[in-house]
Amino acid sequence: MKIIDGKAISAKTKEELRLEVASLKEKGVSVGLAVIIVGDDPASRVYVNNKKKACELLGIYSEEYALPAETTMENLLGLIEELNSRSDINGILCQLPLPRHLDEKAVINAISPEKDVDAFHPVNVGKIMIGDFDFLPCTPAGVMRLIDETGVEIEGKSCVVIGRSNIVGKPMSMLLLHRNATVTICHSKTQNLSEITSQADILVAAVGRANFVTPNMVKEGAVVIDVGINRLENGKLCGDVDFEAVKDKCSHITPVPGGAGPMTIAMLMANTVTAAKKQNNL
Ligand code: NAD
Repeated sequence: MKIIDGKAISAKTKEELRLEVASLKEKGVSVGLAVIIVGDDPASRVYVNNKKKACELLGIYSEEYALPAETTMENLLGLIEELNSRSDINGILCQLPLPRHLDEKAVINAISPEKDVDAFHPVNVGKIMIGDFDFLPCTPAGVMRLIDETGVEIEGKSCVVIGRSNIVGKPMSMLLLHRNATVTICHSKTQNLSEITSQADILVAAVGRANFVTPNMVKEGAVVIDVGINRLENGKLCGDVDFEAVKDKCSHITPVPGGAGPMTIAMLMANTVTAAKKQNNL
């Protein structure tokens, strides 16, 4: 069994991007990201801080807009409109979830697709569907990188994704399909879940439930990728996979923390660099 070191793979990816950002700077192209956070959700605050730190490390210019929880749609859309029109801002992301009185769909739709580095805008989602994309959705793209690092061939393999969210499960399945895997998507209404998951050569768990994936759900020798981030009562983070129980059955497995999480940020940085290059016709 090999543990897939997401932290190390993310660091390698970010170092490559740092060099690319520096070489763009020499050509007179700077890279800029604007991050909007509304309210004071502690998990969102951690994610936004990590994104800011990654920008600093890579030499990407970043601006943070921390808006109060009672911000109106009008104010939020006004800010997005202003950021859409600025040439020094190449990527815009609005940290989700938003406070309940705000319309997430309208906010996603307001971000210019060219600057939508989360790849949540329907235009980018549609492009992912037809396999003609500029931006890859960050978490699924990071997972693909982790699978590729194992050296395990994806083509022709049986891949099972547990979870069908717009952010993880659905785009994850699509990226695996583009690589010629045979993909099954499982969700909360799936029957005989363990029968299906135990056929998977590559199993991706994106459920949001601690220790949900148990050894009887895993095929001997499978690659297991754990996207889940769950906080236990003792404050510790854990994934969707019962790591200790499952690890000896796998050929490769990601830990939580230190697996899919760090890759998501690296892919966000990659999308921001891509956006800057495209906006500068490079
Ligand atoms: P979500 O709540 O939107 O979706 C969860 C999915 O799990 C749903 O599609 C649901 O059908 C499925 N599900 C629920 N119960 C199930 C059951 N009993 N059997 C089978 N399927 C079931 O969550 P999400 O946004 O997709 O996130 C999933 C997990 O991934 C969360 O823990 C989240 O924190 C984490 N996450 C991690 C990253 C990262 O960077 N690593 C990024 C996004 C989300």
